[in-house]
Amino acid sequence: MDHKQRIAGLVSGIEERGIDGAIITGPENIHYLTGAPFVRGSYGKILFVGIGGTASLIVSDLDYQEVIGTVDSAEIVKTDFMEKPLDRLKKIVKGTPRLGFEEDLVSAALKERISAEFRVEPLRGILERMRERKDPEEIAVIEMAQFINDRAIEKALGNLKAGMSELEIAAELEYNLRMKGAETFAFETIVASGPRGVYPHGMPGTRRASSGDAVVIDFGARYGGYCSDMTRTLFFGDPSAEVKRAYEAVKEAQERAVESVKGGVTGRKVDAVARGILEGRDLGKFFVHGLGHGVGIEVHEFPVVGPSNGSPLAPGNVITIEPGVYVPGRYGIRIEDLVVVEKDGRRTLTKFTREMVVI
Ligand code: ZN
Ligand code: ZN
Repeated sequence: MDHKQRIAGLVSGIEERGIDGAIITGPENIHYLTGAPFVRGSYGKILFVGIGGTASLIVSDLDYQEVIGTVDSAEIVKTDFMEKPLDRLKKIVKGTPRLGFEEDLVSAALKERISAEFRVEPLRGILERMRERKDPEEIAVIEMAQFINDRAIEKALGNLKAGMSELEIAAELEYNLRMKGAETFAFETIVASGPRGVYPHGMPGTRRASSGDAVVIDFGARYGGYCSDMTRTLFFGDPSAEVKRAYEAVKEAQERAVESVKGGVTGRKVDAVARGILEGRDLGKFFVHGLGHGVGIEVHEFPVVGPSNGSPLAPGNVITIEPGVYVPGRYGIRIEDLVVVEKDGRRTLTKFTREMVVI
């Protein structure tokens, strides 16, 4: 699907709801609809989409050179020196149409400014639903991001040693992501060793990994505006028999859950496969989060792969499968792969081994 088709998809979504156009300000959605380079957190551009499918991307002088030549689905409108994009938007919008806006993305201040000038109402997930199903071009870009992720962990592995701090481990992973082609990181790298492994979002600190510590490493590349996301639990020294058993249980839960993924199966069902295996090993109470999530321009997108999602997965969904166990005061273990949902099955984009790695 090219960007023009995506604009057309948005237009039919807003038409169905009786809205006359949309004001898009989120960098993720602007990238999705126009191909303009994605810069996380960079607000300031405004994409206006009218009901006839006309699209204007309003940019400042500062961004003009960067977007020119990258956008094929919208006319690029450059603001005059000192003119605010919103002021230019006022000149473009004719009459008093009802315009959709991204209620979850715009700040309260921007919403106030937009509502003062236009009749606006929430888009209510029109774009999120479109972005849930990736087209083959998007899947190819995500596959490349995961390829970079796999190469980075392979390369980093040669340099990891017992006694290194979490920060040193994170630095090694991030350096190799860049060296393998990541434009930036999909999210803040997680390195959580030993008892700190129970923090599912543990930021790396000064703790040194040794003596059989399980170390949860969760990191991702951003490439072509899209994210990858992988977790491995590496052992710095030989783990105890108990921790080894827990690792094997998480690995089996992860693999069986991946095998259960196909179009038409609900997120809840896939989650239940992993949860059932961990419950059978008396580890169910330590699995304290949902099984996975969609990945795309954002690292957390729809669909949810967890007990709350009774809707069927669809071909083109790109999801993570990431069971974990977190035993307070002791250790954490998580294994996460990136998977494309297909009509009759799935394709795993993550190639790095899930076998136990002892450093
Ligand atoms: Zn992750
Ligand atoms: Zn994840």
